[in-house]
Amino acid sequence: MGSLNRAPLIRWCGATSLGAVVTHGLASGMVRTKVLVIGGGFGGLFCARRLGGTDVDVTLLDRAASHVFQPLLYQCATGTLSVGQISRSLREELAGHHNVTTLLGDAVLLDPDARQVTARRPDETTFTLDYDVLVLAAGMRQSYFGQEEFAHWAPGMKTLDDALSIRRRLFGAFEIAETLPPGPERDGWLTFAVSGGGPTGVELAGQIRELATRALAKEFHSIDPEDARVLLFDGGDRLLKSFAPALAGKATATLAKLGVEMHLGGHVTDVRREGITVTPKGEGEPQDYPARTVLWTAGVEAVPFARHVAGQLGATTDRAGRIPVEDDLTVAGHPEVFVVGDLAGRKDLPGVAENAMQGGLHAAACIRRDLAGEPRKAYKYRDLGSAAYISRGHALLQAGPVKLSGFLGWLGWGLIHIAFLTGVQNRVSTLATWLGTIARAHRTDRVFLLGSPTSPEQPYTWSAHRSELPPPGPSTASGTEGSTAA
Ligand SMILES: Cc1cc2nc3c(=O)[nH]c(=O)nc-3n(C[C@H](O)[C@H](O)[C@H](O)COP(=O)(O)OP(=O)(O)OC[C@H]3O[C@@H](n4cnc5c(N)ncnc54)[C@H](O)[C@@H]3O)c2cc1C
Repeated sequence: MGSLNRAPLIRWCGATSLGAVVTHGLASGMVRTKVLVIGGGFGGLFCARRLGGTDVDVTLLDRAASHVFQPLLYQCATGTLSVGQISRSLREELAGHHNVTTLLGDAVLLDPDARQVTARRPDETTFTLDYDVLVLAAGMRQSYFGQEEFAHWAPGMKTLDDALSIRRRLFGAFEIAETLPPGPERDGWLTFAVSGGGPTGVELAGQIRELATRALAKEFHSIDPEDARVLLFDGGDRLLKSFAPALAGKATATLAKLGVEMHLGGHVTDVRREGITVTPKGEGEPQDYPARTVLWTAGVEAVPFARHVAGQLGATTDRAGRIPVEDDLTVAGHPEVFVVGDLAGRKDLPGVAENAMQGGLHAAACIRRDLAGEPRKAYKYRDLGSAAYISRGHALLQAGPVKLSGFLGWLGWGLIHIAFLTGVQNRVSTLATWLGTIARAHRTDRVFLLGSPTSPEQPYTWSAHRSELPPPGPSTASGTEGSTAA
């Protein structure tokens, strides 16, 4: 491992009631504070952007090197939008901030005593990064509630890879069905099961039916895509529990009209090549449903690195792996470690983009206040509402007393999403694409790649397990080393 460009820093520990930790280096003519942000999602990107031009050196580390607008992943999966429209290179996004460095790497180890993070490159070699302040914004991943083998047949929906994998499965299923004679095998390929009745599950289910009844309706000769069955499963007694019952009721009616078959009160307890098993929560026998395409949106859990961080810092996580945070979003006993976004474990903080953006801005504000020798403020989340797309011309929008559905909800939903998409070009082209789909049924991004499990790029999927990694500590990291000072 190469040596690191670390310099002694003067710290203002305990200068405020919350414990200011950012160094006073600049003011004393010494070194600049190193801020390491892990994750370039909503929390990390907003934090790094806000620190642009501040007297600190920021390193933003992300395992994918791009910011992904997760709320529109399902539109990428179902062929409406392209990968480029819902994501942006972090390097390009932050190029204007000369004190911000962006790096591609998967954070794998934290050494809190040395204030060092080890990251893995796509070729499995590692490098280390120093920090004075760490901002953990690595988000959540799909949870299969301990049944990891389900992921093989039922991809989740958290990354661009997930969206493209789903696109391949959806369009591939119709193509395969077209080559089969009528019968149970063809029916299986024309049956799509979605597990999880939250916004993502609802959006996906609605989109698949729309795809079948509009974009694909007149293109096939052997099958009738409109025969495609979409089954939506949720263990609760209603869909969209984060929305008011009246709004969720309207969404349910719209989905039913679209032809989505909703099955409530049962959990998907098995997923296999040819279908799923659903077990009722109360009485009743488990039931099998043949379906060659199964999609999983039922739960989330912290990414593995977050669990590792919690362990290293002696923090007890909740069941999903969220890390408990103090009033200022730092970990107890570690005023130099912020946790923002989905990973921040506090009861009043929801797993939504707005909380991540506000949390990222808050961490940046604390760092700036530390620099100015001012006390940090407590983080207060402002709920600006939520929205969910149901079908063409129908969406829900809930913000305080405002509750919209149908066309008005759809307009509000569209405006919010356009406003928060990263990059002007993405906003303009997404708006143009949406206007195009109002006039015509077609989808412009239906092309799918077959992928190859044997490709030499496979390590790029960061497939190695934590158990295969070396234990923490600079002397034990493996591979071709490089060093970078955060
Ligand atoms: C399909 C879907 C639809 C959604 N729809 C909505 C919606 O309509 N409205 C809403 O408000 N919210 C929505 N959300 C939730 C919202 O996207 C999240 O709350 C938000 O993205 C959380 O931001 P974050 O910064 O905490 O994490 P993320 O945005 O998940 O970003 C985490 C980043 O960390 C990186 N990372 C992870 N592990 C590592 C590591 N070990 N090393 C380096 N980098 C790492 C990832 O590559 C990623 O870029 C949706 C989420 C999904 C998945």
